Amino acid sequence: MAISIQETNIAGIATQSSQSGAGSADKAIDGNHDSNVKHGSCSNTLTNLSPWWRLDLMRTYKINSVMITFPANGLKNAEIRIGNSLDHNGNINPRCAVISVATPGSTKTYVCNGMEGRYINIVVPGKRQQLILCEVEKLISHREEKRLSPVSMAV
Ligand code: CA
Repeated sequence: MAISIQETNIAGIATQSSQSGAGSADKAIDGNHDSNVKHGSCSNTLTNLSPWWRLDLMRTYKINSVMITFPANGLKNAEIRIGNSLDHNGNINPRCAVISVATPGSTKTYVCNGMEGRYINIVVPGKRQQLILCEVEKLISHREEKRLSPVSMAV
């Protein structure tokens, strides 16, 4: 019997293309939505071409949605990518959403309709800018197999 479970608290390991100051990648998954970068709870890359941030869920899940809390100075030109490949650091996995301009300091939900992947990337393709993310959450569903009691087979 399989049960579909939805949850948000699957842990993961966050990495990013570079780090500015104390803005390590895990600041975007520390459970704190503070959107003021100076308060130290946002991930923050250097100003580089195509900066990215990635969450490794350690196994493949169906991703129902991704919720992002944007910094007080906003974010533009970003995309959410989900998949199992690490080619180009995972940034060319299938696209869930385009974030053309995000409202500064807002939290927005992007629906990914059960896209499957081990990696959730947020990337700013082809632009030279910083990528700052104050919190990234996800709603995931996965199936738990409930094993029936072993059945002895008569031969
Ligand atoms: Ca945070």
